[in-house]
Amino acid sequence: MAANLSTPVFPRRRPFLAKGANISRCTDCLMPVSVCICGITPSIDVPASFWLLMHYNEQYKPTNTGRLLLNSVGGGRTIWQRTEPDFRLLHLLARENRYPILVYPQAMAPINPVADQEEMLAQLKQGREPVFILLDATWQQSRKMYNHSPYLHTLPVLGITPQAASRYSLRRAQKENHLCTAEVGAECLTWTGETEAAALIGDYFEVFNERYQAVRYSTPCSDIEAVERLRSYRIQRELLTDKDLP
Ligand SMILES: [Zn+2]
Repeated sequence: MAANLSTPVFPRRRPFLAKGANISRCTDCLMPVSVCICGITPSIDVPASFWLLMHYNEQYKPTNTGRLLLNSVGGGRTIWQRTEPDFRLLHLLARENRYPILVYPQAMAPINPVADQEEMLAQLKQGREPVFILLDATWQQSRKMYNHSPYLHTLPVLGITPQAASRYSLRRAQKENHLCTAEVGAECLTWTGETEAAALIGDYFEVFNERYQAVRYSTPCSDIEAVERLRSYRIQRELLTDKDLP
């Protein structure tokens, strides 16, 4: 079962005032209405979840990909505040049956104990469900967030080393190998052995990326195969759910 830590609750939205503010957007996926992706959002059941510790500036950006993880796999999010840790996150960190992992470069987390990946995976085999904590921010912002969040400093750290350069072209990465949040999430799932779930996130992200670009640059979408895979996944899931009905 997917972790039901809490339903992601997005704060009341204000109009997005940057470039593209006059585009009519879907209120759920925040995509322009003409390329809404809600119809292909996969509902992925995996024994893992995500918690986004999000910088204030990220929360209204339609280009933020963290919501793709919350909408498909589940978890929660916190708008990071220096003085007030989110009590829901603190409660989660204290739960015996969860295994919180800070997804962050070990070199940037010098206070944390150096984690052995085999030992971390052994924790999962003992039935502790991983909660991947992602700092959803720029590198500079994330460094500040990390430094001022003592509750992160005791967690095991998983540094994601991307196998390929980011496919994300909507925002310029500061380094070529800087993955966006959805891509990092897919890598986390791969790490736990949930490769099918990781592939679904990859497809979902590809559709998001392609459609966004199509609107921005008036180019055709080339996401047809990914869309087909996501549609078949939804159909299969619905068939399975129907079979479970009395
Ligand atoms: Zn939508």
